[in-house]
Amino acid sequence: MRVLSVASEVFPLVKTGGLADVAGALPAALAGEGIAMRVMVPGYRDVLGALSGATEIHGYASLLGTPARLLAGTAGGLDLIVLDAPALFDRPGNPYLTPDGADWPDNWRRFAAFCRAAADVGAGAVESFVPDVVHCHDWQAGLVPAYLHYAEPTAARSVMTIHNIAFQGRFPASVFPHLGLPPQAWDVEGVEYYGGVGFLKAGLRHAGAITTVSPTYAEEICTQSGGMGLDGLLRQRSEVLSGIVNGIDTAVWDPAADPNLAANYTAATLPRRAANKRAIAEAFALTPDDSFLFCVVSRLGWQKGMDILGECIDGLVALGARLAVLGSGEAAIEGMFRAAAARYPGRVGIVTGYSEPLSHLLQGGSDSVLVPSRFEPCGLTQFYGLRYGCVPLVSRVGGLADTVIDANLAALDRGVATGFQFLPVEVPALTRAIARAIDLHRHAKAWKKLQQNGMKSDLSWGASARRYADLYRSLVA
Ligand code: ADP
Repeated sequence: MRVLSVASEVFPLVKTGGLADVAGALPAALAGEGIAMRVMVPGYRDVLGALSGATEIHGYASLLGTPARLLAGTAGGLDLIVLDAPALFDRPGNPYLTPDGADWPDNWRRFAAFCRAAADVGAGAVESFVPDVVHCHDWQAGLVPAYLHYAEPTAARSVMTIHNIAFQGRFPASVFPHLGLPPQAWDVEGVEYYGGVGFLKAGLRHAGAITTVSPTYAEEICTQSGGMGLDGLLRQRSEVLSGIVNGIDTAVWDPAADPNLAANYTAATLPRRAANKRAIAEAFALTPDDSFLFCVVSRLGWQKGMDILGECIDGLVALGARLAVLGSGEAAIEGMFRAAAARYPGRVGIVTGYSEPLSHLLQGGSDSVLVPSRFEPCGLTQFYGLRYGCVPLVSRVGGLADTVIDANLAALDRGVATGFQFLPVEVPALTRAIARAIDLHRHAKAWKKLQQNGMKSDLSWGASARRYADLYRSLVA
């Protein structure tokens, strides 16, 4: 079976969040299921720069008004199909944002062109790779099922995966005539969405199957508060909606071999983490003592509950703990952490920006990783925490609810706990969870058990890849 995975970012080439990790990991995981997956990505500058063995497999004199071509090649260990359209994608930096942090004003055209080309591949435009299934990720690929639906009937089936329903790709009605869709697509049964064009909406309307990245999130997005405007449509289509939890790349995230750590370790050599804790203290200007160390590796935004965490810092420091924050995002939240670092020198440290090496080091040396998200489709940071013996402390929402077992008395008794959960996402509940973690840490044996439980849980892609493979097969059958 051949599957075209359509994604606007893919690790290790372009990454702003969890989608890139998933898109980068699925091909290898699915190879074991007998599925040949190619990833289709936009030809951003960084992607074209990394592409080797590129051959042109399709050309457009005008793709939504601009010359373009499809290149097949490899990069980062992946078989890629790249949409080379310099006017749309030959830009530096973040795939969606200008250097000033605003959305590129032509994002609708950039990703409509991307979808149009992906749908063409789905419809058989590239003889050497005619997919049975087109797997579309997030709003940037949302128009693919619509283009397939309104074109000549094709054999290819489509899957739409929601990695985060907050990002919907909503544009004004004025863009519709430029999309190359037939007039009847301008309909609530088509791509029309609250008076504009909805890219994700279009995908959810027309895909053969819809998935999201955890069973709990699949339920949450069908509710008014979780669906962010799309819950009605999702309830209508609930029969084809399922939740499949992400895995992680256990070779990239392996504390026994991770080159980003000061000291490598296994579940049997946990004391070696102390060297990583000292390295973190140095990198984040913290006092190099043995006190409890919390970390954050996150986009700094409302979704991630970072404002709530900010209000808990006084309490955290009062309990004798330290906090190391790695993140980038909203200036106000960055400022809040900076102010905390100034207030508590040596106890709170922040590094802003994106750093893959530091994100590994933090998991390899901190005692606990904080993930107080208001909503979280799946979340990856808690998986890395589990794998690295960096006990996750999470809100009980979405994928966090599905993947961390709270250290309540029953779970501790049965020896199955892997972390801490709290709800609601408010200051008192988070403060209590922070205190619970610090308390349990005083019981060295219980804490070690918590770490080891997490480290031995199966976080690889195996089980999830099987579920995607079953889904593809059921669509094609
Ligand atoms: P989201 O996709 O909503 O941002 P996830 O938890 O699903 O959240 O994935 C976030 C990914 O990005 C994880 O791999 C995490 O380690 C990584 N990450 C987030 N912020 C940073 C940062 N500042 N530096 C390095 N890695 C980061």
